[in-house]
Amino acid sequence: MSQEQATVAEEEYLQIIFWLQEAGLPMTGANVARAMQVSAPTVHEMIGRLEADGYITRAANKAIVFTDSGREHAENIVRRHRLIERFLTDVFDIPWDQVHEEAEKLEHWMSPTVEERMLKAIGDADTCPHGHPIFTHKRLPGVPLADVEVGAKVRVLRFENEAEDLLHYLMDSGLTPGLEGTLARSDDEVVVIESGGREYTVTHSVAQTVSVEADPSPPPRAVLPEQLVLAKEHWGR
Ligand SMILES: [Zn+2]
Ligand SMILES: [Zn+2]
Repeated sequence: MSQEQATVAEEEYLQIIFWLQEAGLPMTGANVARAMQVSAPTVHEMIGRLEADGYITRAANKAIVFTDSGREHAENIVRRHRLIERFLTDVFDIPWDQVHEEAEKLEHWMSPTVEERMLKAIGDADTCPHGHPIFTHKRLPGVPLADVEVGAKVRVLRFENEAEDLLHYLMDSGLTPGLEGTLARSDDEVVVIESGGREYTVTHSVAQTVSVEADPSPPPRAVLPEQLVLAKEHWGR
């Protein structure tokens, strides 16, 4: 039976599973292990606990499926995470490549009263500083920057992978959610040029983790890039 209060560890897992679902990645123990950089036995144990507490069920093919209670818990923690990130950048002036880890700590201890005040404090903002919608149903469909053809117009929607070292790299590149430009090059490096002429360069591997709107748009991916769940040694410089 479902317990009222999820533990911090359970909330971490619910958040990751929700994010896999949003990104269109298979909700499997293997992907959870990769995304959280933990061992398969650790994930196996926690998935068993989430199941026992009524947050998830397992399909015959081992895929993870949220129960209503699990989805609600996951949406709550994801919303708080993104709200805290936006609050930390906009109200406390903390650079956006430094707020993810802070939000990971704070999100578990926030009362509804604080959440309500924080929402007021961020005004009209409706995404985290990395472009993820605070209210999850507002997510816009995007394609990986790496798939866009040279000459296409692009608008950066969000950074899918919030691994801290990747966010530092993206901040150094100058790219930000909302940036608009034209794709100037796409080989081992991807270059976007703004109308003023400023260039933004990231590796092709990092461009797989950047979701954009593009015109013309490449077809959506049937399988999403594995860079979304990998850390630094795999995305390279
Ligand atoms: Zn984050
Ligand atoms: Zn974020």
